[in-house]
Amino acid sequence: MPNFFKNLKQLFSVSSPSSTENFLKIKIKCKKCSEEININMRKSSDFSRVYEEDNAPAGASFFLRKEVLGNKCNNLIYFSAYFDENFNMISKEIEGGEFL
Ligand SMILES: [Zn+2]
Repeated sequence: MPNFFKNLKQLFSVSSPSSTENFLKIKIKCKKCSEEININMRKSSDFSRVYEEDNAPAGASFFLRKEVLGNKCNNLIYFSAYFDENFNMISKEIEGGEFL
């Protein structure tokens, strides 16, 4: 019985809404100057819906493409990624930087 309540509590803590639920945080690092850059992607507007005819990986529901310029140098970082229905990253590519 105590285990049942414990599991139930964990279930609720995972699914309870938070102020950040509409944002996906991605952290990248500039290859040139090693600056660490935090990006908040808005789930409602920054993601593109993936359609069947797109050449997307299996299970992909959303696509994200972004160009990022840090504050410390002029190196432009390009990244793109696919996400499933729950915004879990399925595949990712980056140029000019790396994911942290
Ligand atoms: Zn840089």
